[in-house]
Amino acid sequence: MKIHLKQIPPEGLQLKGEEDCPIPELEEEEMRCAGPLRYNIDIGVSDGALWANGSLKQSVELRCVACLEKFVHQIQVPAFALHTDLPGPEIVDLDPFIREEILLNLPAHPHCDRDGGRVCKAAYVDAAEQSAKRKSDWSALDKLKLNR
Ligand SMILES: [Zn+2]
Repeated sequence: MKIHLKQIPPEGLQLKGEEDCPIPELEEEEMRCAGPLRYNIDIGVSDGALWANGSLKQSVELRCVACLEKFVHQIQVPAFALHTDLPGPEIVDLDPFIREEILLNLPAHPHCDRDGGRVCKAAYVDAAEQSAKRKSDWSALDKLKLNR
């Protein structure tokens, strides 16, 4: 996302829209973008510095560390903000800042049930085992009652 400083009016500029995946190198990590980057950013110039703030959303396909299945997770950056000295002559590239923010918000140990939208098969096995165990506890109690 490259911006000409001349395009930024004194009162700032709102950038809103979609862009292709800003981090294609994710594929090396067995992840990939599952849709475009959505952004809504206000940008402006003051005192020789560039500021921006807004929000980012990026859907990514991750692999669950528990059940090893792939699932889609939406990275949300509700408070993207940057303040930087004006670089070079007149073009600013926001991509490096956006990429860094998305990467920072990638879950390190993704679980497919983290968003509550699905049940992790691995977690389900755990829960099933536990309830089976609980049942056998009860049956032991029942036997006790019978013996009385
Ligand atoms: Zn899972």
